Amino acid sequence: MKSKAEWEALAAGLKPDGRALIDGKRIATSTTSPDISPVTGKSLADVAACGEKEVDLAVASARKAFDGDWGNMSPGNRKGALQKLAELILANADELALLDVLDMGKPISDATTIDVPGSAAILNFYAEAIDKVSGEIPTTDSGNVALVRRVPLGVVGAVVPWNYPLEMAIWKLGPALAAGNSVVLKPAEQSPLSSLRLAELAIEAGLPAGALNVVTGQGEVTGAAIGRHPDIDVLTFTGSTEVGKYFLKYSGESNMKQVWLECGGKSPNLVFADTENLQEAAEFAARAIFFNQGEVCSANSRLLVERSILDEFTKLVISQAKKIKLGNPLDPETTMGPLVDLNQTNRVEGFIAGGAKVATIAHGGNRLTIDGSNCYIEPTVFTAVDTSAQIANEEIFGPVLSVIPFDTEAEAIKIANDSIYGLAASVWTSNLSRAHRVSDALHAGTVSVNTVDALGLNIPFGGFKQSGFGRDLSLHALEKFTGLKTTWIRYE
Ligand code: NAD
Repeated sequence: MKSKAEWEALAAGLKPDGRALIDGKRIATSTTSPDISPVTGKSLADVAACGEKEVDLAVASARKAFDGDWGNMSPGNRKGALQKLAELILANADELALLDVLDMGKPISDATTIDVPGSAAILNFYAEAIDKVSGEIPTTDSGNVALVRRVPLGVVGAVVPWNYPLEMAIWKLGPALAAGNSVVLKPAEQSPLSSLRLAELAIEAGLPAGALNVVTGQGEVTGAAIGRHPDIDVLTFTGSTEVGKYFLKYSGESNMKQVWLECGGKSPNLVFADTENLQEAAEFAARAIFFNQGEVCSANSRLLVERSILDEFTKLVISQAKKIKLGNPLDPETTMGPLVDLNQTNRVEGFIAGGAKVATIAHGGNRLTIDGSNCYIEPTVFTAVDTSAQIANEEIFGPVLSVIPFDTEAEAIKIANDSIYGLAASVWTSNLSRAHRVSDALHAGTVSVNTVDALGLNIPFGGFKQSGFGRDLSLHALEKFTGLKTTWIRYE
């Protein structure tokens, strides 16, 4: 791993291009916005503020590619192009990692070991799937044959958040492009740079112009133009529940495009007194909320602890929180960086101030300035949190943990399920029956037992309730970007 000085030197040498990438070319817009880094407080690039005009151009280019070079490319060549793109991601790993670190503050040690290699692996997974997923020939009366195929839907609009800029884009692009669609991608305004660079690499990899367009800009303008566009066939979104609901509305008010939503969460982590190794459970519990500055949709932000082990377990979790190295994310020793921007830092600070009025700050709670940036929040643990408290119910999307005691299994399940969200949950117990019973009862898309936030590229990920209904990752994600097409043939 490079030293902090080496990463800083590499960062200083970057000259990110903030122009949009449409129809295989960089496009300048009449207005731009500065892309402020939470690491340095300085602008990394002037980023294109795309409006309806640019979104129209991007959709027209995507349509042309779908009807032409990309849509008609042989499956083997499509696979080759996506595999080449995965290779180029790895070949440009340092640059892509740095762009995400500078844009949103995650530690460089995570960006280089998780985000970038993970993105390449996911792309390879979907590239490999291209010639391994087949249609069906169902049973029919004699003299008939029905061929059922999954066909691409056409133009995909993908709108993604800033917490894993490259990876969230790849979660959408992998299955959408592998299925043969072309894509108009809108990264979050806080973190557009890795998506823009990725679109350049896609051209180098042999994807024809228009297969992948990247339009940048504000959600209410660029995102809404995508949501309302009459020639986008399917919209895939990851972001907040509030904005996810807008996309349902945009679709209803425009062309009834399919909408797939992966939204927020307030995931519970249930720790029962019969847990075999409390020390290990505490290490996982801390990681489950503090990793990526707590800016994780499935962060286990509610820690439900059986009352008989409450004090002991809380102490163990706090001792883990104390080990976190909060600092400049370009330092490879850093395990927690700044939050994405001043707005988010103010928002998280507001939640902490509100929480302090109704619960106890057992650890952290302060905002810090490091290397000139005022976007750092200490890992924060609240105890004596009532289930009615705002910090126990709303998604904070920051390093803030609420510890909530329970007395019985039934009470733990009730508290865990009493949420508008249903993305993920974790359960710690050494009782096999309880593990199954509680997992069955939890309303969450993923339940992790004796671990937290388990994830695999071949395993579906997504939520229930207001956490959305789309599934990312795994072969199931291909279903979002394809439609079932049946051809009946009658013969003599
Ligand atoms: P956000 O909803 O504010 O923004 C997400 C995207 O939507 C951005 O590209 C943004 O520009 C765009 N957008 C914002 N307002 C819009 C509007 N009015 N119309 C159209 N587009 C608009 O979310 P965020 O702050 O970028 O990310 C944090 C959220 O993402 C959290 O709620 C988190 O839980 C969620 N998230 C969910 C998952 C998942 O898989 N379920 C994964 C990561 C993040």
